[in-house]
Amino acid sequence: MPASDRRNVVLLGATGSIGSSTLQVLRQHQDRLNLVGVAAGSNYQALAQICTEFGVRHAALGDDSVYPEAQAHFDSQVELHCGAAGLEEVATLAEADIVLVAVVGATGLRPTLAAIEAGKDIALANKELLVLGGAHVIEAAERKGVRLLPTDSEHNAIFQCLEGRPMAHLDQVILTASGGQFRDTPLAELSRVTPDEATRHPNWSMGPKITVDSATMANKGLELIEAHWLFGLEPERLKVVIHPQSIVHSLVQLIDGSILAQLSPPSMTFAIQHCLLYPHRAASVLPTTDFGEMLQLDFSPPDLQRYPCLELAYQALKTGGAAPAVYNAANEVAVDRFLNKKLGFLEIPQVIEHCLEGVAAMTSPTLDQLFAIDAETRTLARSCY
Ligand code: NDP
Ligand code: MG
Repeated sequence: MPASDRRNVVLLGATGSIGSSTLQVLRQHQDRLNLVGVAAGSNYQALAQICTEFGVRHAALGDDSVYPEAQAHFDSQVELHCGAAGLEEVATLAEADIVLVAVVGATGLRPTLAAIEAGKDIALANKELLVLGGAHVIEAAERKGVRLLPTDSEHNAIFQCLEGRPMAHLDQVILTASGGQFRDTPLAELSRVTPDEATRHPNWSMGPKITVDSATMANKGLELIEAHWLFGLEPERLKVVIHPQSIVHSLVQLIDGSILAQLSPPSMTFAIQHCLLYPHRAASVLPTTDFGEMLQLDFSPPDLQRYPCLELAYQALKTGGAAPAVYNAANEVAVDRFLNKKLGFLEIPQVIEHCLEGVAAMTSPTLDQLFAIDAETRTLARSCY
């Protein structure tokens, strides 16, 4: 394939877990994909290495306090951008075709909106930004006619199952959840779990925040809201099932009772590759599911007593307006405080519930109102416990 036919990729969150899976895909498919811009928070050493390996000329650091010491680590041909504006500059590079958004948390919203306004296709791994500003992201993507490719594995599975099918054929979608690392831990022991234990996932290797979200199932809560925006479905048509093996990434049930599923091993490289090459397909980076070996697939309903964050997400989705933004901000603060040993594991859902009760509801909030609610919720969440 001639170099000019390669797709130019910007990767926001290049130094993280999704970032490193994306780099694997980029190494394997250099004939089709070309990395032109990268961003991280503060890890400039790793970001500089990525720029050198891939010959990237534009890098951004979200944390502008490290900028002065960072510059000397980058090759002279790299233009280093910084702060929130720097992320937007890299996300809107003239040469970029697609932006993979894999920064963690609500930070991803503004650069994603900027990339959409600049006409870039988006591969969306970051779910928090959709929970915060889903209405605005969907409106902008439709108005600009850009692709919003779901990279979160469940949503990527649903996207693949629905492709080419009229929405009128769809009855409901069923998100699979591993149940996290405490799926079988007695409820009475959950109050004592430590950040170390909560950041070790049995199936997936992920960043610390999403691994804790997986244990509380706030991750699935965020994903319900993410699915609502991506597929235009009301909460009644969004179901969750526990599937400990993480091989079936989600299911779609049609009105005639047929159920379709997407299966692949528990690695994000499959969904990332699907999005970056879309609509083309190519050999996967990792070995695929082997039906020559014993394969067991189990499914069971989630126990809402064990996973109160799931029920709270349904509530936030039904309330609508600013409630999902409150859910997300409260969870981000609570997880951060749990990881810093300032909060117990079981207090995470309590902080979310307290904030959902304490922050004023609002229908159809503007972007500025959402950011204000996000900030207000964070202050309230920090004052809990
Ligand atoms: P990690 O914590 O591993 O990585 C986070 C990335 O975001 C790092 O590159 C980090 O840079 C960067 N970052 C943090 N703060 C900023 C900032 N202010 N400006 C710019 N970049 C910043 O997270 P994951 O890769 O696990 O998750 C990323 C996103 O993808 C999350 O939204 C998560 O929910 C979603 N996701 C993750 C999955 C997974 O398997 N990991 C699966 C599905 C979705 P630095 O290294 O400098 O801190
Ligand atoms: Mg997921």
